Amino acid sequence: MSSRVNPQIRDELTAFGFKDGDKCYSCSTCTVTCPLATPENPFPRKIVRYLQLGLQDKLRQSPEPWLCYYCGDCSTQCPRGADPGETMMAARRYLTALYDWTGFAKKFYMSEKFELMAVGYVALLVGLIMLMFNTGQPDWQHADVNSLWPARYVELADLAMAAVLSFLLLSNVWRAYRAVLGELRGKIPMRLYLGQLKELLVNFLTQKKFAGCSDRMPWIIHLLIMTGYTTVFILVVVLLNGLTFDNLRFQRGWPEYPLLHPIRLLGYYATVAILLGTSYALWGRWKRTKPAYQHSHPTDWMFLILLQLTTLTGIFIHFGRLLDWPLFTYALYVIHMMVAVPMLLLEVPFAKWAHLAYRPLILYLLKVKEVYQAQNTAS
Ligand code: SF4
Ligand code: SF4
Repeated sequence: MSSRVNPQIRDELTAFGFKDGDKCYSCSTCTVTCPLATPENPFPRKIVRYLQLGLQDKLRQSPEPWLCYYCGDCSTQCPRGADPGETMMAARRYLTALYDWTGFAKKFYMSEKFELMAVGYVALLVGLIMLMFNTGQPDWQHADVNSLWPARYVELADLAMAAVLSFLLLSNVWRAYRAVLGELRGKIPMRLYLGQLKELLVNFLTQKKFAGCSDRMPWIIHLLIMTGYTTVFILVVVLLNGLTFDNLRFQRGWPEYPLLHPIRLLGYYATVAILLGTSYALWGRWKRTKPAYQHSHPTDWMFLILLQLTTLTGIFIHFGRLLDWPLFTYALYVIHMMVAVPMLLLEVPFAKWAHLAYRPLILYLLKVKEVYQAQNTAS
């Protein structure tokens, strides 16, 4: 296995949020403190050491950054103020950039200006497309978005975007898989991968290891955002046009569903969950209420702000429909899309949302590797 040394890695990592790692004198207090570290994966000290020595390839192959949920206990206990929790976060951002073959992730993390411009360009493009492509026959009697942008066309655009995002994300996931399993990947039989798929699903849906941290609040916030987002995904990708069933259609014409209709209840759950989760995280970062919120990279802010704006504009659209204000509703719909599309197109494959894919994937691969090695030892 190669172990290329890159002395510039620490300088590069500064742009990814690495600040005080050089203060570390390898006492291991952080690793002893960490509730998630194990003898096989002795982090965060191991990762801090890799960064100090510029061991880029070792870092690329390391699963440890994805085993950390940033509770911050290690940073609180570090006698040198080396902030190992933030170093682990910086390592995750760095790995996200290394896995990404397009180079966009690296640009996002290294340049706040680039990220802002990318979001701005995509938002403007979406606004222009919506103004250019519509039926030209708005319903001015009732707030009916379908009169301008029919659900079946929006659904097609949704599916095209989902296909592009899936391709980008899965190709990066493939690179993460190659990096973490290395030469072992050709030796592990397919039945082992299939046999452990449950691990992938459970970790993706629950992030159960997060519950092992001393402070459980971030896990609850994560679950709120995750379940809220998954619900929105089902509503806007799977059910936007209701699978052709009129009473399941999320983008419905006037009038709105009755209050207790399942589609409306799902929408309310998603709205409350995301709003609570993002408000808590934004407030925490603003006030620096926890060790994990002490340092915020611009990409952390962008992710939370876009997600919250998407939710808030969604709420305004809902009120516009309930109050039956056509112009207000149509204008808010355009603004909503101008926020939601950049969030999805840029955050899912290249930034914070990608962590949702990498973390369960790597926990799953570690399980597959563990089972494979146990079987080999036994035979
Ligand atoms: S980061 Fe701090 S606690 Fe961890 S090994 Fe270095 S000095 Fe010790
Ligand atoms: S932040 Fe928490 S989970 Fe991450 S390495 Fe430190 S103690 Fe462990």
